[in-house]
Amino acid sequence: MQDPKSILIRNATLLDPNAGTAVKGDLYIEGGVIVPTPATRHPTPATPHPTPDTRPPPPDRRPDARVIDAAGLYVAPGLIDVHVHLREPGGEQAETIATGSAAAARGGFATIVAMPNTRPPIDTSERVAFVLEQGRKAGHAEVLTTACLTRGRAGEEVAPLEELAAAGAVAFTDDGATVQDDDVMRDAMRRAAALGIPVMDHAQDRAMELRGGAMHEGARSRALGIPGIPSEAEIRIVTRDIRLAEETGCALHIQHVSCAASVDLIRDAQARGVRVTGEATPHHLLFCDDDVDPARPDRFKMNPPLRSARDRARIREGVIEGVLSVLATDHAPHSMTEKARGFLKAPFGIVGLETAVGASYTALVRSGRMDRMRWLRAWTTHPARLLKRPAPSLAVGQPAQVVLLDLDTPWTVDAASFRSLGRNTPFDGMELVGRAVDMMNLCPWRT
Ligand SMILES: [Zn+2]
Repeated sequence: MQDPKSILIRNATLLDPNAGTAVKGDLYIEGGVIVPTPATRHPTPATPHPTPDTRPPPPDRRPDARVIDAAGLYVAPGLIDVHVHLREPGGEQAETIATGSAAAARGGFATIVAMPNTRPPIDTSERVAFVLEQGRKAGHAEVLTTACLTRGRAGEEVAPLEELAAAGAVAFTDDGATVQDDDVMRDAMRRAAALGIPVMDHAQDRAMELRGGAMHEGARSRALGIPGIPSEAEIRIVTRDIRLAEETGCALHIQHVSCAASVDLIRDAQARGVRVTGEATPHHLLFCDDDVDPARPDRFKMNPPLRSARDRARIREGVIEGVLSVLATDHAPHSMTEKARGFLKAPFGIVGLETAVGASYTALVRSGRMDRMRWLRAWTTHPARLLKRPAPSLAVGQPAQVVLLDLDTPWTVDAASFRSLGRNTPFDGMELVGRAVDMMNLCPWRT
């Protein structure tokens, strides 16, 4: 069911990442699509002697239209997050598809892509259908899903990729785990390439990961006496998988890049014409291992870990240069009971959907490093391209997936107010600039 009401957003700055324009004006939504505003249907003649317009005046906006005065605010296409853990099925105490997608809508996301590391994992067409159906039922955001690269995410046997694609999976990944066997990975990438579907890669050498590392291996981990995860664990797999992408022609997307060297590897491969993209998370843009408080795994334990200040600087540069063209949250809710097991035993992950706009805008745009339009494209145009979806825009005729953003007023993060069930965030109490204040998501996935 589409929202029967029409909506008139007035006096906003309209940010269209596809057209590359930022203009003050109104946006009118009717029947779930963007339509010409009443003002543009009565154009002011630009020529001194215009031909008289003999057409009957078009109907004005409907009397039941909701009118939003958006002076001082920005309107943009709803954002896309290609990396979200919704925990359903099997982890409903941490998050459900309904609570996670509600958090997404609150955070400014019209579309999210679920990761398949649920219990059981998403490695059958029935489970792909289940996630899509739960998302539709919840009705908060458009929920898309990835499916496993290998059966059970065990890394041994390639999953039935053709069936999973037919069921609607938008990408393949074993996120949370890495396919260790080169031949299995090559075979999976070959089949994904034939299907024209990207592989999203959690690049972390499992042998190194399984040594019990809980944070970045470096001076800080040694000072704290916490076992480290070396940068080499990521670099080794990024190197291997770029080589396999080159060999198979598969579109490879490196998830949550954490190391400076990975940015350089991706940049060089892109220069050679390899189909590789990279993503950065807001937490890797804002924090580094110096920030790690060993008493707070709920805030500072995630995988890949917060690395050195030098790595953080290179990740930021990588985003600014466009090497890491996609921003994504890696939203990973866990119950506080789980997170209270101490830094070594607590699970990896932090939530990010309701802080992503503020954290990334503060790190990249408010700091004067990146212009607003390029920041917006990293949350819209580039993720859409990765998913092979139409470029998000505010053009007439587009589905009304529209977010209202306040990009000027500082606000303080209060995790207790999240719609996500997860409270595990390093951003709690931080002052950020950039926030979604309203979301109109009336696109056809609701029908
Ligand atoms: Zn991951």
